[in-house]
Amino acid sequence: MVYDFFIIGGGSGGVRAARYASSQGYKVALAEAYDLGGTCVNRGCIPKKLYSYASSFHDEINIMKSFGYTVSTPKFSWMKLVKAKKKELKRLNNIYEKLLSESNVKLFKGYASIFDKDKVSVGNKILSAKKIIIAVGTTPKKIQFECSKSIITSDDVFDLQVLPKNILILGGGYIAIELASIFNGLGVNTTISLRGNSILNGFDKEVTLFLENQMKLKGVKIINKNFPEKITRNKDYFNVIYKNNCKNKYDLVLEAVGRVPNLEKLNLHKIGIKQNDRGFIKVDKMFRTNVKNIFAVGDIIDKVQLTPVAIAEAVWLIDNHNKKNFKNFDYKNIPTAVFSNPNFASIGLSENDAKKKKISYKVFRSEFRPLKHSLSKSKEKVFIKIIINSINQKILGIHYVGENAAEIIQGFSVAVVNGLTKHQLDKTIGIHPTSAEELVTMK
Ligand code: NDP
Repeated sequence: MVYDFFIIGGGSGGVRAARYASSQGYKVALAEAYDLGGTCVNRGCIPKKLYSYASSFHDEINIMKSFGYTVSTPKFSWMKLVKAKKKELKRLNNIYEKLLSESNVKLFKGYASIFDKDKVSVGNKILSAKKIIIAVGTTPKKIQFECSKSIITSDDVFDLQVLPKNILILGGGYIAIELASIFNGLGVNTTISLRGNSILNGFDKEVTLFLENQMKLKGVKIINKNFPEKITRNKDYFNVIYKNNCKNKYDLVLEAVGRVPNLEKLNLHKIGIKQNDRGFIKVDKMFRTNVKNIFAVGDIIDKVQLTPVAIAEAVWLIDNHNKKNFKNFDYKNIPTAVFSNPNFASIGLSENDAKKKKISYKVFRSEFRPLKHSLSKSKEKVFIKIIINSINQKILGIHYVGENAAEIIQGFSVAVVNGLTKHQLDKTIGIHPTSAEELVTMK
């Protein structure tokens, strides 16, 4: 049997490529060594969001009190959460398997390596395919410290045996910020250490500073520009010595300093598949590697490491792989969210980008205390920032910090993707009283 497509990797991008190709009449096989669903289902988006819900109830309880409830302190069991999460992930793994088999995709459970330009090996089987798609994703990057083996990453965090009393999180990107909010919400004394000045570099600086302050109000400690130089471990704790020579002890240290390609055993060198200087697979506009029948999508290609992007790339690839005339995959205006507490979501241009690109722009801002918090002592505020092109009034970016930011930005991203103007937002009547109505009433 010669497959039309052999897909290596059963994460979001790989599974979608397989199912979609099969629905288009192709003979498809997929190999996955671990649980189906990849990082997103097993060690990323899904467990993270579940734990983020778990950590949000702390705030809810305080709000309940402000509305007249008498609430005795509820007991939380970390292990019960871990167990419930495992059960849910198993259910999702099974759904993925069922979806593949119902789509007539042949599943090989095992680690696949490139055997030749048109051959893949899985265990002791050699399988032939006209085209191969690599969708193997990434794995956490590790910095070398003395006790690196004891420092955990996002791969380990959802299955910890015990919730630590205090934790140090290294890095200030998506994962660090989300996990810090989770631990802090679950009552863990949480510190983030950054090598730079600010969290979430690459986003709008004013907005991330607002988020940083909101997180600090909720109890997260953020140490800027002072990264550990040395981390050692004895049987009770981690001993951390910072760049400025300050020392501190932590129960647990977690690294969230980016992710690296998951290509170790794939054998790319055997047929000379080219990688960029960071080790990610190089592809052209068609997601084709330098080997003409081998493609790659998802986190492994160093574009945008987001599940919905991997899925969209996979569909785009199958739709376009035989076409000469195609529109390039569009990486502009991808909405994204950080499930911090409070949530942060954004689409389009940041003010820093607008400046850098020398675009003539205008900014609208709104900062307010949401009604839900008005009876409580909570200092939580919502911050919304809209950036428009001051020549044609088109909305260039929307940035939102506050409860349900991701849900709200998902809806409003339709306006940005379709090039609507601020005037068109203003034409829309708000729903009162909501926080999102501010987006259509900002003057
Ligand atoms: P990010 O790229 O988001 O952040 C990495 C962080 O680590 C940055 O703060 C960076 O600092 C810091 N860092 C990198 N190298 C070093 C180093 N050598 N020493 C000290 N600090 C360092 O990576 P994440 O691992 O958080 O997430 C990976 C990707 O996964 C994200 O970019 C995102 O695409 C995706 N993701 C998406 C989520 C979502 O959609 N909600 C959730 C989680 C992940 P600096 O800023 O100074 O470079």
